[in-house]
Amino acid sequence: MRILISNDDGIYSPGLAALAEVASKFGEVRVVAPDVEQSSMSHAITSSRPLSYRQTPIASFQGKFEAYRVNGTPADCVALGAHNWEGVDAVLSGINLGTNVGSAVWHSGTLAAAKQAALLGLRGIAFSTPVTESEPDFPSLAPWVEKTLRLLLAQQNLPLVNVNIPIQPAGICWTRQAIQHYDGRVVPAKDPMGRSHYWYTVVPIDQAEAGTDRWAMARNHVSITPLRLDLTDDELLRRERTRLGCNDDGVTK
Ligand code: MN
Repeated sequence: MRILISNDDGIYSPGLAALAEVASKFGEVRVVAPDVEQSSMSHAITSSRPLSYRQTPIASFQGKFEAYRVNGTPADCVALGAHNWEGVDAVLSGINLGTNVGSAVWHSGTLAAAKQAALLGLRGIAFSTPVTESEPDFPSLAPWVEKTLRLLLAQQNLPLVNVNIPIQPAGICWTRQAIQHYDGRVVPAKDPMGRSHYWYTVVPIDQAEAGTDRWAMARNHVSITPLRLDLTDDELLRRERTRLGCNDDGVTK
């Protein structure tokens, strides 16, 4: 099995090395990641300039995995990675330094790498974990990453999955994406010269509906959310087609 590893935190992220290490138990691993951090870049692609794809000797990878850095986005990395390595079976993204639950899924570059895989007809799985004052303890998370991968890779028709791993997991929970709260906040502040500026940031929200990704993480459970590329709201589409008397292809009278 050929497993391509990417992320949005960049080629030097400890989370990337941790994921590559676990993935190597399941097959042949190659790392293709952005040369600098691309967090919150979502599914952007670089279409106005050419991209480079350079083999990168990183000490922690040497002798174990080939690693390449790309001066582009996570989606670019997966596109180039799959182009330059025939027969990729799965793309794993992460382990992101920071959770990707609820509405963060829209902004996440980590998720975008997995989505790009799904667009290319490959399997995509994104992994994220919370960041506290200290960096995540990746060795303690590794068994949970392995357990999750064993579960997911054994199942054929799971093209796109979002996995979040709490600091001290107590179990695994299959969840849906929390959508009731959008946690984006504009925070005004002053720079050292007294000029106004703004941080657009994400602040934690306490309540979460049962069965959601945010809820599972709050209960220290690994959250596994199967996602789909089709964003169509089937219920609303049906309603409007019926209301407007459309034919079976949706064409209005
Ligand atoms: Mn990130």
